[in-house]
Amino acid sequence: MLRPVADGVLVHESGFLQSNAIVVQGRAGVLLVDPGVQDHEMACLANDLSRSGQTVVAGFSTHPHWDHLLWHPQLGAAPRYGTARCAATARDELSDPGAKARITAHLLPTGIAERVPLDLLGEITALPAETAQIPWGGPQVRIIEHHAHAPGHAALFIEERGVLVAGDMLSDVLIPMLDLSDTADPIEDYLAALRLLDGVAGDVDVLVPGHGSVGGADQVHARIDQDRAYVHALRDTQVPRDPRIGPSAKPGWEWVSDVHDGQAQRLAGRSERDGTPG
Ligand SMILES: [Zn+2]
Repeated sequence: MLRPVADGVLVHESGFLQSNAIVVQGRAGVLLVDPGVQDHEMACLANDLSRSGQTVVAGFSTHPHWDHLLWHPQLGAAPRYGTARCAATARDELSDPGAKARITAHLLPTGIAERVPLDLLGEITALPAETAQIPWGGPQVRIIEHHAHAPGHAALFIEERGVLVAGDMLSDVLIPMLDLSDTADPIEDYLAALRLLDGVAGDVDVLVPGHGSVGGADQVHARIDQDRAYVHALRDTQVPRDPRIGPSAKPGWEWVSDVHDGQAQRLAGRSERDGTPG
Protein backbone atom coordinates (compact mmCIF):
# COMPACT_ATOMS: atom_id res chain seq x y z
CA MET A 1 0.00 0.00 0.00
CA LEU A 2 1.28 3.44 -0.91
CA ARG A 3 1.47 5.85 1.99
CA PRO A 4 1.91 9.61 1.49
CA VAL A 5 4.84 11.07 3.44
CA ALA A 6 4.90 14.55 1.87
CA ASP A 7 3.07 16.45 -0.85
CA GLY A 8 3.38 14.25 -3.96
CA VAL A 9 5.76 11.77 -2.31
CA LEU A 10 4.61 8.29 -1.29
CA VAL A 11 6.31 5.27 0.22
CA HIS A 12 5.64 1.56 -0.27
CA GLU A 13 7.16 -0.56 2.51
CA SER A 14 8.26 -4.13 1.88
CA GLY A 15 7.89 -6.97 4.36
CA PHE A 16 11.55 -7.78 3.66
CA LEU A 17 14.02 -5.77 5.76
CA GLN A 18 11.56 -2.89 6.01
CA SER A 19 12.66 -1.78 2.52
CA ASN A 20 11.15 1.44 1.24
CA ALA A 21 10.19 2.12 -2.37
CA ILE A 22 9.60 5.81 -3.05
CA VAL A 23 7.16 7.32 -5.53
CA VAL A 24 7.49 10.98 -6.55
CA GLN A 25 4.61 12.44 -8.54
CA GLY A 26 5.58 14.40 -11.63
CA ARG A 27 3.69 16.16 -14.41
CA ALA A 28 3.08 13.16 -16.66
CA GLY A 29 3.82 10.24 -14.37
CA VAL A 30 5.91 9.19 -11.42
CA LEU A 31 9.56 8.68 -10.56
CA LEU A 32 10.09 5.37 -8.75
CA VAL A 33 13.15 5.05 -6.51
CA ASP A 34 14.33 1.58 -5.36
CA PRO A 35 11.13 -0.20 -6.51
CA GLY A 36 11.02 -2.97 -3.92
CA VAL A 37 11.99 -6.55 -3.33
CA GLN A 38 9.26 -9.18 -3.65
CA ASP A 39 7.28 -9.93 -6.79
CA HIS A 40 3.83 -9.48 -5.22
CA GLU A 41 4.87 -6.24 -3.53
CA MET A 42 6.06 -4.64 -6.75
CA ALA A 43 2.91 -5.88 -8.53
CA CYS A 44 0.84 -4.31 -5.74
CA LEU A 45 2.72 -1.04 -6.18
CA ALA A 46 2.18 -1.17 -9.97
CA ASN A 47 -1.54 -1.84 -9.41
CA ASP A 48 -1.83 1.05 -6.93
CA LEU A 49 -0.25 3.34 -9.51
CA SER A 50 -2.37 2.20 -12.44
CA ARG A 51 -5.58 2.43 -10.38
CA SER A 52 -4.79 6.08 -9.75
CA GLY A 53 -4.03 6.60 -13.45
CA GLN A 54 -0.28 7.05 -13.02
CA THR A 55 2.53 5.49 -14.99
CA VAL A 56 6.21 5.23 -14.13
CA VAL A 57 8.16 7.66 -16.33
CA ALA A 58 11.55 7.18 -14.66
CA GLY A 59 13.20 4.88 -12.17
CA PHE A 60 16.27 5.36 -10.00
CA SER A 61 18.42 2.93 -8.02
CA THR A 62 20.28 4.51 -5.12
CA HIS A 63 23.10 1.96 -5.27
CA PRO A 64 24.22 -1.30 -6.85
CA HIS A 65 23.05 -3.80 -4.21
CA TRP A 66 20.56 -6.38 -5.48
CA ASP A 67 17.69 -5.22 -3.24
CA HIS A 68 17.83 -1.77 -4.85
CA LEU A 69 18.20 -2.96 -8.46
CA LEU A 70 14.97 -4.89 -8.97
CA TRP A 71 12.11 -4.15 -11.34
CA HIS A 72 8.78 -5.69 -12.29
CA PRO A 73 7.34 -5.99 -15.82
CA GLN A 74 4.10 -4.31 -14.69
CA LEU A 75 6.10 -1.18 -13.85
CA GLY A 76 6.71 -0.66 -17.58
CA ALA A 77 9.74 0.23 -19.65
CA ALA A 78 10.79 3.65 -18.32
CA PRO A 79 14.53 4.38 -18.12
CA ARG A 80 15.98 3.24 -14.81
CA TYR A 81 18.75 5.58 -13.81
CA GLY A 82 21.67 5.34 -11.43
CA THR A 83 24.95 7.17 -11.02
CA ALA A 84 27.65 6.25 -13.53
CA ARG A 85 29.51 4.24 -10.85
CA CYS A 86 26.32 2.51 -9.74
CA ALA A 87 25.47 1.45 -13.29
CA ALA A 88 29.05 0.34 -14.03
CA THR A 89 29.23 -1.72 -10.83
CA ALA A 90 25.88 -3.39 -11.51
CA ARG A 91 26.94 -4.14 -15.08
CA ASP A 92 30.26 -5.63 -13.96
CA GLU A 93 28.68 -7.83 -11.34
CA LEU A 94 25.94 -9.07 -13.64
CA SER A 95 28.40 -9.84 -16.42
CA ASP A 96 29.30 -12.85 -14.28
CA PRO A 97 26.86 -15.55 -15.44
CA GLY A 98 26.66 -16.96 -11.90
CA ALA A 99 25.63 -13.67 -10.29
CA LYS A 100 21.87 -14.22 -10.18
CA ALA A 101 22.22 -17.79 -8.91
CA ARG A 102 24.42 -16.48 -6.10
CA ILE A 103 21.77 -13.92 -5.10
CA THR A 104 19.12 -16.65 -5.05
CA ALA A 105 21.39 -18.89 -2.94
CA HIS A 106 22.08 -15.99 -0.56
CA LEU A 107 18.31 -15.50 -0.19
CA LEU A 108 17.47 -19.13 0.57
CA PRO A 109 17.62 -18.75 4.37
CA THR A 110 15.21 -15.80 4.22
CA GLY A 111 12.44 -17.89 2.63
CA ILE A 112 11.73 -15.27 -0.03
CA ALA A 113 14.15 -16.47 -2.75
CA GLU A 114 11.40 -17.63 -5.11
CA ARG A 115 9.53 -14.35 -4.67
CA VAL A 116 12.38 -12.11 -5.82
CA PRO A 117 12.17 -11.62 -9.60
CA LEU A 118 15.67 -11.32 -11.01
CA ASP A 119 14.82 -11.15 -14.74
CA LEU A 120 15.08 -7.36 -14.92
CA LEU A 121 17.73 -7.00 -12.22
CA GLY A 122 20.27 -4.21 -12.64
CA GLU A 123 19.28 -2.86 -16.07
CA ILE A 124 20.41 0.60 -15.07
CA THR A 125 21.00 3.54 -17.41
CA ALA A 126 24.11 5.42 -16.29
CA LEU A 127 23.70 9.14 -15.76
CA PRO A 128 26.82 11.05 -16.85
CA ALA A 129 29.30 11.46 -13.96
CA GLU A 130 28.45 14.39 -11.69
CA THR A 131 24.89 14.73 -12.98
CA ALA A 132 23.29 17.07 -10.45
CA GLN A 133 19.62 16.19 -10.97
CA ILE A 134 17.51 13.32 -12.21
CA PRO A 135 16.36 14.16 -15.76
CA TRP A 136 12.59 13.88 -15.59
CA GLY A 137 9.39 15.94 -15.68
CA GLY A 138 8.69 16.55 -12.02
CA PRO A 139 10.00 18.33 -8.95
CA GLN A 140 13.75 18.77 -8.99
CA VAL A 141 15.51 15.77 -7.48
CA ARG A 142 19.08 16.54 -6.50
CA ILE A 143 21.58 13.68 -6.63
CA ILE A 144 23.94 13.63 -3.65
CA GLU A 145 26.54 11.07 -4.67
CA HIS A 146 29.15 9.93 -2.19
CA HIS A 147 31.55 7.09 -1.43
CA ALA A 148 29.86 5.26 1.39
CA HIS A 149 28.08 1.92 1.71
CA ALA A 150 28.41 1.01 -2.00
CA PRO A 151 30.13 2.30 -5.15
CA GLY A 152 28.21 5.20 -6.65
CA HIS A 153 25.77 5.40 -3.74
CA ALA A 154 23.44 8.39 -4.03
CA ALA A 155 20.99 10.05 -1.70
CA LEU A 156 18.26 12.14 -3.32
CA PHE A 157 17.05 15.49 -2.06
CA ILE A 158 13.65 16.70 -3.27
CA GLU A 159 14.06 20.21 -1.97
CA GLU A 160 10.63 21.64 -2.81
CA ARG A 161 8.99 18.76 -0.94
CA GLY A 162 11.53 18.77 1.91
CA VAL A 163 12.23 15.07 1.39
CA LEU A 164 15.60 13.33 1.69
CA VAL A 165 15.75 9.82 0.24
CA ALA A 166 18.80 8.44 2.01
CA GLY A 167 19.42 5.10 0.28
CA ASP A 168 21.18 2.80 2.74
CA MET A 169 22.24 5.61 5.08
CA LEU A 170 20.49 7.11 8.13
CA SER A 171 18.47 4.04 9.02
CA ASP A 172 16.96 3.52 12.46
CA VAL A 173 17.39 -0.27 12.18
CA LEU A 174 20.62 -0.78 10.23
CA ILE A 175 24.01 0.45 11.40
CA PRO A 176 26.29 2.13 8.86
CA MET A 177 27.49 -0.67 6.62
CA LEU A 178 30.78 0.39 5.14
CA ASP A 179 31.96 -0.33 1.62
CA LEU A 180 35.12 -2.28 2.39
CA SER A 181 35.67 -3.51 -1.16
CA ASP A 182 37.66 -1.00 -3.16
CA THR A 183 38.32 2.05 -1.09
CA ALA A 184 41.44 3.18 0.73
CA ASP A 185 39.72 4.83 3.69
CA PRO A 186 36.17 3.58 4.20
CA ILE A 187 35.85 5.36 7.56
CA GLU A 188 36.70 8.78 6.16
CA ASP A 189 34.53 8.10 3.09
CA TYR A 190 31.58 7.42 5.36
CA LEU A 191 32.20 10.49 7.50
CA ALA A 192 32.48 12.63 4.34
CA ALA A 193 29.13 11.27 3.14
CA LEU A 194 27.52 12.14 6.47
CA ARG A 195 28.91 15.67 6.13
CA LEU A 196 27.25 15.95 2.71
CA LEU A 197 23.91 14.86 4.14
CA ASP A 198 24.41 17.22 7.09
CA GLY A 199 24.74 20.01 4.52
CA VAL A 200 21.08 19.66 3.49
CA ALA A 201 19.71 18.39 6.81
CA GLY A 202 18.39 21.79 7.87
CA ASP A 203 15.98 21.79 4.90
CA VAL A 204 14.69 18.25 5.38
CA ASP A 205 11.20 17.67 6.79
CA VAL A 206 10.93 13.99 5.90
CA LEU A 207 13.71 11.41 5.83
CA VAL A 208 13.15 8.14 3.96
CA PRO A 209 15.85 5.51 4.54
CA GLY A 210 16.24 2.51 2.24
CA HIS A 211 15.40 0.27 5.21
CA GLY A 212 13.63 1.32 8.38
CA SER A 213 11.23 3.97 9.57
CA VAL A 214 10.44 7.21 7.81
CA GLY A 215 11.58 10.04 10.08
CA GLY A 216 10.56 13.64 10.59
CA ALA A 217 12.77 16.72 10.76
CA ASP A 218 13.86 15.86 14.32
CA GLN A 219 15.23 12.53 13.11
CA VAL A 220 17.59 13.89 10.47
CA HIS A 221 20.27 15.31 12.76
CA ALA A 222 19.66 12.58 15.33
CA ARG A 223 20.37 9.83 12.80
CA ILE A 224 23.39 11.64 11.33
CA ASP A 225 24.78 11.96 14.87
CA GLN A 226 24.03 8.32 15.64
CA ASP A 227 25.71 7.11 12.44
CA ARG A 228 28.72 9.36 13.04
CA ALA A 229 29.07 8.09 16.61
CA TYR A 230 28.97 4.51 15.34
CA VAL A 231 31.63 5.18 12.68
CA HIS A 232 33.83 7.01 15.22
CA ALA A 233 33.57 4.00 17.55
CA LEU A 234 34.59 1.67 14.72
CA ARG A 235 37.51 3.95 13.86
CA ASP A 236 38.64 4.10 17.47
CA THR A 237 38.14 0.35 17.95
CA GLN A 238 35.68 0.96 20.74
CA VAL A 239 32.50 -0.97 21.35
CA PRO A 240 29.75 1.32 20.08
CA ARG A 241 26.85 2.08 22.38
CA ASP A 242 24.25 1.89 19.66
CA PRO A 243 20.60 0.90 20.13
CA ARG A 244 20.61 -0.83 16.73
CA ILE A 245 22.97 -3.53 17.96
CA GLY A 246 23.26 -5.65 21.07
CA PRO A 247 20.44 -6.53 23.45
CA SER A 248 18.51 -3.33 22.74
CA ALA A 249 18.14 -4.06 18.99
CA LYS A 250 14.61 -4.16 17.64
CA PRO A 251 13.15 -7.69 17.66
CA GLY A 252 14.08 -9.46 14.44
CA TRP A 253 17.15 -7.30 13.84
CA GLU A 254 19.58 -9.07 16.18
CA TRP A 255 21.64 -10.17 13.15
CA VAL A 256 22.84 -6.57 12.76
CA SER A 257 25.20 -7.28 15.68
CA ASP A 258 26.89 -9.94 13.53
CA VAL A 259 27.29 -7.39 10.75
CA HIS A 260 28.92 -5.06 13.26
CA ASP A 261 31.30 -7.77 14.49
CA GLY A 262 32.18 -8.63 10.89
CA GLN A 263 33.05 -5.12 9.84
CA ALA A 264 34.94 -4.39 13.08
CA GLN A 265 37.08 -7.49 12.39
CA ARG A 266 37.66 -6.61 8.76
CA LEU A 267 38.68 -3.07 9.64
CA ALA A 268 41.05 -4.37 12.31
CA GLY A 269 42.55 -6.67 9.65
CA ARG A 270 42.99 -3.74 7.29
CA SER A 271 44.85 -1.61 9.82
CA GLU A 272 47.14 -4.51 10.73
CA ARG A 273 47.94 -4.93 7.06
CA ASP A 274 48.49 -1.19 6.68
CA GLY A 275 51.00 -1.28 9.52
CA THR A 276 52.96 -4.18 8.12
CA PRO A 277 56.02 -3.12 6.07
CA GLY A 278 56.05 -4.60 2.60
ZN1 LIG B 1 22.81 -1.56 0.29
